[in-house]
This record gives sequence, C-alpha cells and structure tokens, in this order.
Amino acid sequence: MTTTDVGAGRTGRTFTPAELVAVRADFPLLGRTVRDGKRLIYLDSAATSQKPQVVLDTEVDFYEQRNAAVHRGAHALAEEATEAFEHARQQVAALVGTDVGEIVWTPGATMGINLVATGIQNATLGRGGPAAAERFRIGPGDEILVTEAEHHSNLVPWQELAARTGATLRWIPVGDDGRLDLAGLEGADGGRGDAALINERTKVVAFAHVSNVTGAVAPVARIAAAARAVGALTVLDACQSVPHRPVDLHALGVDFAVFSAHKTLGPTGVGALYGRRELLEALPPVTTGGSMVEVVTMEATTFAPPPLKFEAGTQMVAQAVGFGAAADYLRELGMEAVAAHEAELAAELLRIAEIPGVRVIGPASVGTLGEEAAPEAGLPDRVAAVSFVVDGVHAHDVGQVLDDAGIAVRVGHHCAQPLHRRFGIAATARASASVYTTLDEVKAFREALAGVRAFFGAE
Ligand code: PMP
Repeated sequence: MTTTDVGAGRTGRTFTPAELVAVRADFPLLGRTVRDGKRLIYLDSAATSQKPQVVLDTEVDFYEQRNAAVHRGAHALAEEATEAFEHARQQVAALVGTDVGEIVWTPGATMGINLVATGIQNATLGRGGPAAAERFRIGPGDEILVTEAEHHSNLVPWQELAARTGATLRWIPVGDDGRLDLAGLEGADGGRGDAALINERTKVVAFAHVSNVTGAVAPVARIAAAARAVGALTVLDACQSVPHRPVDLHALGVDFAVFSAHKTLGPTGVGALYGRRELLEALPPVTTGGSMVEVVTMEATTFAPPPLKFEAGTQMVAQAVGFGAAADYLRELGMEAVAAHEAELAAELLRIAEIPGVRVIGPASVGTLGEEAAPEAGLPDRVAAVSFVVDGVHAHDVGQVLDDAGIAVRVGHHCAQPLHRRFGIAATARASASVYTTLDEVKAFREALAGVRAFFGAE
C-alpha cells in the first residue's frame, strides 16, 4: 500500500473543482450558517449525510402527486405509487450490484441486522419448515463470529441471538493500527481446527465493511471466502461503505448486507437489507401482519415471496422513493470518482496527526488496496472518517470548541464501546466527510483543532 496517488482511484479521476462546486450547490443545507453567522463546516457525515435537492424534491413530488398505499388498491394513484416504490428498489439494487428482488426495505441498518438474527432464531424454532431449520439452525456448540470493531448495531443483536439459542459469541480482535487482526482467522496452521476463529462450528460471521470509528476497510472477500468454506453465513454491515465507494455485493460474495439511506444522501426512516435470493426464500419472516401474506385463514397463513415477506405493514413509501433518488444521484456522480475524492479528503484529514498532542485512532495513512483485495483492488484502504483524541482535553470539549467555530464533528463512543475500550479510551472526536466536503473545509478544521489545546491550557 502507498500513501501517494490515493486520489487517483481505479479510474484515475476525482471531481474537478467545478464539479465539486456543482455538487455542493445541490445540498441546500450546506448554504446555511451556524453560531452567529459562521459558515457551517459539516464533518459529521458518518453519523448522517446531508441530502441533495433531488432527494427532497422526489419526496415532495411523491406526496404531492402520487401518494397512495402500495401493493393494494386498483386505482391509478395506487398503481403509480407502487411503480415508484418498486422503481426505487431497482435504483438501490443497481447501486450495490444486486438483483431487485434481493433488496428488502427496512427502517434502517439496525433493523435489517435484527431481522436476520431473529429470522435465524425463528428458523431454528422450526418456523420456516425443515429445510430452513436445516439451513439456519443454531444452538449450543455453534459459534457466531463478530469483530471487536463493530457498531453496537452489529454486535448486540448477535449477543442476543447467542443468549437466546445457547450459541457462543467470538470475535476477531483489532490490531494497534485499527485494522482487524486476521492472524487467527483460519488457525495457526492455516487449517480449520478448533483454534481457528472460523471453523466447522461457525454459523454466522457478521462484520462491518468499513469501521465507523477507524475508517478501516475490512478484507470482505477474504473473510466471506473463509466463512463459505465452512458453510457459515456472512452478514455485512455496509453502512459506511455504500455511501463512499463502489460496492458490488455479488462480487464481494456475502450472504446478507445492510445499509441505511440516511447516511447515503437519502431520507431517514428507510434502509435496505440485501439477501441472496435463495436465503431470503428460506428465511422465515420476523414481523408479521398485513401486506406480507398470501392466504390467511383463522388457523394459519402462507407468506408472500420475498422481499414482500419481510415488509409487513404499511411501507415507508416516500422515504424509499427518496432513497432511490439518492442512489441514482450517487451513481451519476460515479462511485469511483466519489471514492477518489474522499481519499484525498482522508489524506488531508489524517494530517491532524501532525498537530502536537493529537492522536488518530485507526490507520494513519490512506493507501490503495492491492490485487489480493479483489474485487476491491485499486480502491482506497480507508475512508474519510477519522477519529482522534487530544491529549489533556476531553472529546466533548474538543467538539465544543470546534462547534464554536461552526465545525460539526461527532464526539463520544460512536456506538462502539468495545473498540474504544480496546484502545483504553472512553471517547473520541470524529471528523467524517462525504461527497460534498472540500479540502478547504478540512484545512479550516485542522487550523481550528490546532488551537484546541492552547484554548484549554493543555500545552
Ligand atoms: N453500523 C454502522 C457501521 C454505523 O455507522 C451505523 C450508524 N451509525 C449503524 C450500523 C446503524 O445504522 P442505523 O442507525 O441507520 O440503523
């Protein structure tokens, strides 16, 4: 890996200055000021991104022109609403390289992970029939593998599944550089003996594509291949990758994946769960009720095929349609150019390590993934989310001083307490970028951060 030419990306192309000006103009909120007229520098996109006008317009247009319940009703509006809703599913599927029927709408990534975990439990209870029980069964002696870097959303549901089924939770540790330590993945001898983190007892491997704290990119294809070799299911938390780089879920070879619209330039209240078609067909539903059935008698119910089987109740239609517009917006920008632009921002952000007393938690540089990382070869090996501590100053105080300068960063444990514990700290501050972030903004942030220790007399 190198730290040079990181902005070149796979296509050698980042945004031109004029393109970046045009992108920023698409995001109305970026034009506002905060704290007595200071220009807003929004460096909290990993928590939630801002939304382009086209997403806002698409949602308004839906309510003004098309609003109706979908997948029921024979009137014109119901038809148009259903068409918009299903078109959005195609737009989102196209962003992540899947078939349209493999995308399930969920209220967010968290709910998608819970859906898979609880679906596995329901299958274990026999609710999907013998074939599903055979495919998904989990119990005492089985193992669920996560990582020490997970967001609580991709940890707690697996702790719960382990507690409810008697399975054992294990985890891949994180190294000092903030990357996963994969030394124990296949066992010391390269075999799959008991000591290996992925072994014959492993039933589920759940991990983040990109850490929301360190910004490090995990070797997805390698982990997925190791899981596949023992028949374990993979569940990828793609919340922090889909908004920032090309993601082809089929090529990555994972079984399930989740991501959220609100981090992907789309509305709140909607996310997507990807599942390989045969798995979605076999997995029993979790939330039951209207809209997800075929035949209901007083005694029993047969379920609609996926994805509708997992979408009980009245759907989040306007939000899904807005998500579709966000997916198209990103695809039109070109995800390779987005990744290249954000790699430049990451390199610039990481220069905060030159400020005395500032320590970055996570990879210190941004490089390019090599051939061994196929299908991700040529993409950046970290994203532009940089967490840090400032000697002698609490993260919340860092955040407050930056806020006084109009700069929005996130402070706290970022829903990743075990990872913070791993580094012996309770909290970090995190600066994170998106398509609309500029190098000038990052430089202004660095200058403001350089003054923080002096402000608190910590020098
Ligand atoms: N995983 C990761 C890596 C995240 O960054 C987040 C959001 N902070 C989530 C899961 C949860 O996403 P949501 O709150 O949209 O369900």
